[in-house]
Amino acid sequence: MKMKYKTKKRFAIFSMVLVVLYFLVTLIAPPLLDKGQNKTIEETTKVSNEAKILYNNLDFVGDLHCDALLWDRDLSKENDYGHVDFQRMSNSNVAFQAFTIVTKSPKGHNFEKTDGEAFDNITLLSILQGQSVTNWFSLFNRAMYQCNKLKGYARAYNDNFILIEKKDDLLTLLKKRATNKKIIGGIIGLEGGHCLEGEIENFLKLYDNGVRMLGLSHFFDNKLGGSAHGIEKGGITEFGKKVLGEMQKRNMILDIAHTSDKMISDIIKTYNGPIVSSHTGVDGVIESYRNLSDEQLKLLAKKDALIGVAFFPGAIGNDGIRGIVKTMKHVKELIGVEHVALGSDFDGSVTTPIDVTGYQYIVEEMLQQNFSKREIEMIMGENLKNFLLKNLPN
Ligand SMILES: [Zn+2]
Repeated sequence: MKMKYKTKKRFAIFSMVLVVLYFLVTLIAPPLLDKGQNKTIEETTKVSNEAKILYNNLDFVGDLHCDALLWDRDLSKENDYGHVDFQRMSNSNVAFQAFTIVTKSPKGHNFEKTDGEAFDNITLLSILQGQSVTNWFSLFNRAMYQCNKLKGYARAYNDNFILIEKKDDLLTLLKKRATNKKIIGGIIGLEGGHCLEGEIENFLKLYDNGVRMLGLSHFFDNKLGGSAHGIEKGGITEFGKKVLGEMQKRNMILDIAHTSDKMISDIIKTYNGPIVSSHTGVDGVIESYRNLSDEQLKLLAKKDALIGVAFFPGAIGNDGIRGIVKTMKHVKELIGVEHVALGSDFDGSVTTPIDVTGYQYIVEEMLQQNFSKREIEMIMGENLKNFLLKNLPN
């Protein structure tokens, strides 16, 4: 009897130690991972007064893609790591950010060939962040959790962050910003439809929870169709067509970043709602599975698509800000400046030349590469603003 009691006591102590250890890990690991994955290589070039003034007077600066919700960073507070938070946006004349939700990231993922069956790094991240067990094994729950996280940050920011679900929300943001440039806003997007877990009901739940943009695939082929980095890289599936039908009914923004070439051509043929590539590069600057060909860009222009230019080397090469602006220039010259937007991929496990406070460096480089003031206004956010005004539901 005595032994049994001792064993029980030992087990209780052991369990408690484990719980304390797990608690400590959830405190220590998330910021370390965040800092390690989302770096900024500081720019050393100077920003001219002309660029500074031009940037600070921009009416609407907005970006099509960031994965900030994946990390355990309170976006309502100012952080000294990672790429985006509300405070840094407010302080840097940034009006708008699309928050895109990543729910699965297979180990060893790469641009050429990624196996969706490989161990999922985000399962581990969810555990390390101390998330509820319901998120550990459900991609859908993870997506809902990230939507709710953004809403929580908005409340904590005294509602000076406006979640944009319909046109009126954007009009409210614009109206408020006319007198107070600290007010900011954003929309929610999904990076990959695998979080629907094959159920249309999940699509409806996510739409009801605020999602307004959807990229059908991410790094691997899924139930909706092929990824540019998948094994099959196939076209759209029957389930994918169903989702497309539901998106069409709601005029939802379809994001083709990461989708396979076959899928892009299926989408261009069949989808009549708004299309973006939220974070991309172009083959005309750096040839890659990840990037859009000139032919694709021309087809996308016919669909009034918006091309968000990404900031990381895999999309724009190793030229930093010069590479970003070179990519913008290529798209501008090929299909017109009205199709170019920012698509940083901030906080997307990438190293970028700036964080959200550094857009003036891009303006400086745009001036160097002979972009006009009007073109700069359009690319820095006006194209995006007009695209949203035209396409958001009433
Ligand atoms: Zn991405």
